[in-house]
Order: sequence, then C-alpha cells, then structure tokens
Amino acid sequence: MKFVYDFSEGNKDLKDLLGGKGANLAEMTNLGLPVPPGFTITTEACRAYLRDGDHVDGLAAEIDEHLTALERQMGRRLGDADDPLLVSVRSGAKFSMPGMMETVLNVGLTDASVAGLSRQAGGNDRFAWDSYRRLIQMFGKTVCDVPGHEFEDALHEAKTAKGVTDDVQLDAADLRELVAAYKKVFAEHTGHEFPQDPRDQMDQAVAAVFRSWNADRAVLYRRQERIPTDLGTAVNVVAMVFGNLGADSGTGVAFTRDPASGEQGVYGDYLANAQGEDVVAGIRNTLALAELEKLDKRSYDELMRIMATLEGHYRDLCDIEFTIERGKLWMLQTRVGKRTAAAAFTIAAQLVDEGVIDLDEALTRVTGAQLGQLMFPRFDLAGDPSALTRGVGASPGAAYGEVVFTSERAVEAAAGGKPVILVRRETNPDDLPGMIAANGILTSRGGKTSHAAVVARGMGKTCVCGADQVAVSGTTFTVGETVVEEGDVISIDGTTGRVYLGEVPVRPSEVVQYFEGDLDPARANDPLVAAVHRILTHADSRRALRVRTNADTGTDAARARRFGAQGIGLCRTEHMFLGDRRELVERLILARTDTDRDAALAALQPLQRADFLEIFREMNGLPVTIRLIDPPLHEFLPSLEELAVRVAVQHEHGRRDEHDERLLAAVRRMHEQNPMLGLRGVRLGLVIPGLFAMQVRAIAEAAVALAAEGGAPRPEIMVPLVGAVQELETVRAEAERIIAEVIGDSPVEILIGTMIEVPRAALTAGQIAEAAEFFSFGTNDLTQMAWGFSRDDVEGAFFWRYLELGIFGISPFESIDADGVGRLVRIATEEGRAARPGLKLGVCGEHGGDPDSVRFFHEVGLDYVSCSPFRVPIARLEAGRAAVDTDGSDHR
Ligand code: ADP
Ligand code: MG
Ligand code: MG
Repeated sequence: MKFVYDFSEGNKDLKDLLGGKGANLAEMTNLGLPVPPGFTITTEACRAYLRDGDHVDGLAAEIDEHLTALERQMGRRLGDADDPLLVSVRSGAKFSMPGMMETVLNVGLTDASVAGLSRQAGGNDRFAWDSYRRLIQMFGKTVCDVPGHEFEDALHEAKTAKGVTDDVQLDAADLRELVAAYKKVFAEHTGHEFPQDPRDQMDQAVAAVFRSWNADRAVLYRRQERIPTDLGTAVNVVAMVFGNLGADSGTGVAFTRDPASGEQGVYGDYLANAQGEDVVAGIRNTLALAELEKLDKRSYDELMRIMATLEGHYRDLCDIEFTIERGKLWMLQTRVGKRTAAAAFTIAAQLVDEGVIDLDEALTRVTGAQLGQLMFPRFDLAGDPSALTRGVGASPGAAYGEVVFTSERAVEAAAGGKPVILVRRETNPDDLPGMIAANGILTSRGGKTSHAAVVARGMGKTCVCGADQVAVSGTTFTVGETVVEEGDVISIDGTTGRVYLGEVPVRPSEVVQYFEGDLDPARANDPLVAAVHRILTHADSRRALRVRTNADTGTDAARARRFGAQGIGLCRTEHMFLGDRRELVERLILARTDTDRDAALAALQPLQRADFLEIFREMNGLPVTIRLIDPPLHEFLPSLEELAVRVAVQHEHGRRDEHDERLLAAVRRMHEQNPMLGLRGVRLGLVIPGLFAMQVRAIAEAAVALAAEGGAPRPEIMVPLVGAVQELETVRAEAERIIAEVIGDSPVEILIGTMIEVPRAALTAGQIAEAAEFFSFGTNDLTQMAWGFSRDDVEGAFFWRYLELGIFGISPFESIDADGVGRLVRIATEEGRAARPGLKLGVCGEHGGDPDSVRFFHEVGLDYVSCSPFRVPIARLEAGRAAVDTDGSDHR
C-alpha cells in the first residue's frame, strides 16, 4: 500500500485518500499554480495509525523518501543549522472541518537553525525568532496538549513589559526572550525540553494530526454534521513560505464570490506581515482584499487571475488561502467553498446564466435543508427599532435570546428551555457545544471567514461577527454607554449584521412570501427569489415522486396548495372530535344503550361532513386521504388524575356529580398500560359499532355535495393500524355498502386503502393489498414498533447515549432507518405491488419531509411523500435532486 503522495501525484478526485486539502493542493500543483512543494500522507495511513499505533509498516520509510525528495527540490535540508528547510504539518480530511483539527507551522526550527533562518532572510532576526516562538506555541498546544492560554499569557506579559499592544511591536530581542519563556512553559507542562531534532519534531506533529481526528471537538463536529467517524484525516507536509517577513509580505483568505449573499465579485481579508492563523483568529483587524491592490498590485493581479482560473476549473465558488512572501504569491489551499443557503441558490442560478452548468447540475448544488433555512422568519422592522450596533452578517437568520458569555452557560440555559445568544470576543473550537445550544452567536472580532462565521454557516445558525463596538468583559458587554448584562435579551440579524436590544418581532421570509403569493412586487426581481423559483420549477419537472401534504383543516390545505402540494396524504380526523364537540364524544363513550350511542354519532355526522367538504373544496381536483379515527378514545376524556381529584373534592363537600362519576368509571375502565399498543385504530372501528360508518358516510356525503356543485372531489379513505387483511376486509365491506348507498349515480369515486404502520402489515403486504387500493406508510408508528421504542419515552431518556455511541448517526424518527424500518417499506412495496399492480404507495410519517428520507423513498419507488405544509417545497426540491442525482453519492 502506498501511504505518501507527492503533490504532483494527486488530483482533486482523490479526497477519500488525500483529504480535501491534499487533493486540492495536488490539483493546483498540476494546474501550474504557485504551490509550495510538499507531499500528503494518506487517510489510510491515519486509519492504520489509529488502529495499530506508532508502528505502521513502511510508513516511516515512505516519509523518508518523500522528505529527501522535497529537500533535494528545495536545495535545503529540514532544520539544517545553516540553511534550514522548514515545513508545515497540516491536517486535511475528506470533509472540511474548519478549525477542528490541527496544523503546525515552522517545523524544523531549533536553537541551532533559528540563526540559519535569520541569515536566509537577509539577517532578519526578528522574523526568525517570531517564527520560532510560533512553532513552540503551536507544537506545545497541538502535539503536547500544553494549555494555549499559558503561551498567550506569556505573550501578553511581554507586550505589557514593553508597553505595547500589538505583537508586531516586539523586536528581535523581545521575541528571543519570549522563546525562552515559551520553552519554560513547554518544559513545565511536558516534563521535557522542546525537541531539538527537526525530524523528531515532524514525526511528532504528524502523529498529533492523526490523533486530532479523535479529539472531542472533532467528534462532536462530525456528529453535528453527520460526517462518518471512521474516515480519518490525511496529513500534508508543505515547504514553508513566509508572510511574516515584513511589510511586503502577508497572508490572506478569499472567496471567488461572496459566500454570504452569492453576489459576484471576489471577497476576502488580508493581513500584512502575518502568518497563518492570524487572519482568521482576528488577532489584528484585517484589510479588505481590495486594499491589497494598492499595497502590491502585481500579487493582487496574479491572485485575481488565479481565482478566475480556479472558478473556471472547479465550475463553482472557491475559497482560497494564500501567502505573499516578499512580493511573491503562494497558494496554500483551495476548495469549493462553503456558503449560506441564499448564496447556494443565487450562485447556482448565476452559473446557469453564465453557461457554466445546466439546470440539472444546479439542482445538485442546493439542498432541501438550505431551502428550509431560507424559509426561516426574518425580523419585522416595521416598528423601526434602532440597532444597538452592527457587525458583519455572517450567517443569516433572525435570532433573539438571553445573552450568555460562555459555552457552558449557553448549554445550561438552553437545557432549561431558554433561547440564548452566545456573545464572545471570538469563538474557538472549544465553544462548539455552546454554539450548538445557542439560538445565535455574536462576536466582537473576526469577519466572514472567522471560526464563528464558518461554523455557524455550516450549522445554519444565525451569526453576527466582528461587531467591534461590542466590548465584552466578564458577564457584561458594553456598546458605548449601553451596558448589557448576562440574561438581558438581544436580537441579532445574521443577514444585515444588526444587533438590537430586546426581542424584535419576526415576519415570514421573502421565500415564504413568494410561496404564499404575497411577495411585495418591489421584491419580485429579487435574485434569490428568482433563483429559488427557477430551481424548484426544474425540480418539479424532473421528479418522479409526487408531494402531498399532511393537513387537517381547510386553512392548512390551502396554504399547502400554495406551497405546491399535490393533494393531502394524511388528514387526521381526531382534532374534529375536540373543542365544543368533546361533549358529543363523551356522550358516545358513556352511551349505555345502542340508542344513546347512535344519537351521539348522528349528532357528530353533519359536523364531520362539513369538515370534509371544506377540505375537499380547498383540494378540489386533488386526492385527499382521510384517516379514520386513530387514537384511543380515552384520549378525548379528562385524565384519570384530574377526574379522581374532582370527584374526591365533590365528595368532601358532600356533593355528587353523576356525570363526573360516570366519566371517572369510564376512564378507569378504559385505562391502558400501553395505549400506543392498545384499543386504537382499526380496532376501535371493529369494536364500536357505527363509529367508522359515521365517518365514511360523512366523507361520501361531502364528496357528493362537492360534485353536485361541479367540483371534483377525490377522497381516499385510509384505515389505520391494520395488521391483518381480515381487519381491513371487515371495515371495507361495511364502507363499500355505505358508499354505494350514498353515492347512487353521482360520478364520485372513493378509494379505500390502509396505513402500513404495524410490522405485521408490512410482512403480509401481499395479502393486505388484495383488500387495499393504496398503502400509506405511517413511518412514525412503523419506526416505534419496528424498534420497540415508545417515542415519547425514549427520545429524552436515552437517545443521546445511542447517538453518542454511534448506534445511530441520527434519530430514526428524524431520518428513516433504511436498514430496518426501510426494509419493511421495501418488502411491503414489492409484495404489495406484486399482488396488485397499480397499488398506490405513499408515505405520511414525518419522514416525508426529511431530505435523506425523501431520497430513500424515491429509490424504493413510492408514488408520493406527504409532509407538513412548510416542508412541501423542501420535499419537492429533494425529490427533484434524487431524480437527477442517480448515483446518490455525497449529497451533503
Ligand atoms: P486549516 O485547515 O485550519 O485552514 P491549514 O492547514 O490550512 O489549517 O493552515 C492554516 C494556515 O497556516 C494556512 O491558511 C496558511 O496561512 C498557514 N500555512 C499552512 N501551511 C503553510 C506553509 N507551508 N507556508 C506558509 N503558511 C502556511
Ligand atoms: Mg486552511
Ligand atoms: Mg399511526
């Protein structure tokens, strides 16, 4: 097995093996761009190291060989005392995990080679000692777990001693002393001296990068982003170039288009006389990229040319990291850049306009999750709230919450159900738990490329960065005279970057207004709305799955139709038994005689007919699947505790209420240990005479009424919780009789089908299909029953542990468990269709609106998915994506 690849040997398609950074460094090298020479140690080597420990067969020899070649190419030897080669040792996994893993710069510097480095730089002692102190700091932190603040404290002390604020104001002698101080910190924490053998430094750094794959924060980030845990990271060893050689040097990051809005035109930050992380860490305030043109026009022009080359080559927005060493530009990284949801749509549509990609490809460049983010509400600024301050809108959305200043407090408060805004000077990877817990993130330093910005965008979390008027100290922050304490409420707008005191009301997003058809005409040409319209329309033209909605009322049905629903896949009837109808339901449940019961049902029937008529009207011409009553009837009665107390109190006062006592007796009689597995669904219909019949009659009458008005109702009656064909046959026989009687010669047609939500139904689908014109997979119950989970109990009790252990990567209630529950769906699909060709198949669980699940249902070959109204556009998009993206790979 080959463990090490020279940059000239790789290419961008080898991300699995070389990681994203290594693969793209190789790609740039082969494009002839100025990349410092180097090599990549593969993810396979990392996996072997994490499995076998230090002695991976053949690895050391291969590294030797490549290091020797690099030394020959550079004409310098690693850490040589007179003329040292220095390298960076950089992590780089298949999926980018910003700031999660480690990089060590200036490897090869020792007490001996620091003088050689100075000579190389024309006697620049300051530069050499600055590089050395950075190595000790990064090496200490990364390789030996020395707490980073120890170094920062020492640096701070050095600056205070000298009476300066900026590290560029420290001279060579100061930095030399700082190196001594750093070495002391290092020795105190590790029990040994800072290693003076360059090769030993490099080997230790490589091993540390391998290990960083399993650091807590990396594990947490992967879980959050659903990145598999077993990929490992590659390690890149790259000849150092120096941005800290003086005013004609510097380092920067850039995007080929704005990653927040998608607007055309380069965007970036530059910092003169700096190295590596200085730009993203927000240590000094950066310059806008445009300023570089004035400082160093030649490098700027070359950078623009290279960025155009990269965009043309990758056919997408790229982000890059570069360094200028004494007027010479070096490319240190590129990748197809992360972007906001809005930018993803806008850029995809731009690239179609530019003739770079076609609409099918545009569809693969956006996700349902991103569309979901665009449907988030925005702040309603009608009341003209004045902003407290303003930063950079780094990740869009509107968020409010109580201010907290630490990750721990954010986690605590969020666990107590409070929305919080995490306010920090800047974030670092240790803040990740708090960032996940918070509603939004506000920092006083850093721009769109800072840690906070990048991570928040990845999570779709609202973030405002670089609000530099915000002065954070302890548990307060101030803006001018205004003091904001921990626990005060603020609102932040991740699009405009504005920060408001108090809770600002929110309104629907432009995209939602567009769906609703009430977008302000002035915004009709909004590039984002136009892009969403265009891509979603294309998805509709490509998708095989139809998209219906779950809706129980006319209002929901109408909204869903505006969002593009092609019918109702699940209309629950239980809410129709609540409110002022409760009394009738109680009468039904308490009925002592057939006459009592029939009277209650007869009173409910016209109400039900009106419910259905309203929904059929809204969905005129489209199918409406109505589920016959499903929950156990005791759910409609007051709770046992409530009644028992009420009756006891009555007794105490010497009163008796006959109705309450009968209710209490009924509730006692009907009490179930496991209501989810008890008297409900079809079982109710078989036990309580006339109940289903009443609903069937109401459905048929409503349909006939609409047809008489000239409408085109398409009812589908769905029987819940069927496990055996005999159950369905019994219900069906009665229903058919009633339907025939009601319909007479009206042109109405009513289908009868069943939910598949009990595992036995899936396993006997061939039999059940004989009596069903359609199946609708109730994947919530199917998941509960396939796993033996009671959802309400398990999610809080132990799912966190299962997620932690990796038993599932995501809750099976969120995304379909393809191997288990999905297998039941496949079996029922195949056997159902074999028994009845033309059997209609759909899904009505919450999975119907989950992007990954939609893809699965497309692959299984269902006819439609049904989801809540707000998820309809998401399902439309994902169904389109699934249809064009046949290989199904890498749809993150
Ligand atoms: P990350 O994955 O966190 O971006 P990198 O490996 O890209 O970490 O390293 C961070 C920064 O360190 C780079 O953006 C670059 O500025 C600097 N750097 C890395 N390698 C070199 C090198 N060979 N020469 C100069 N600077 C380097
Ligand atoms: Mg980088
Ligand atoms: Mg169910």
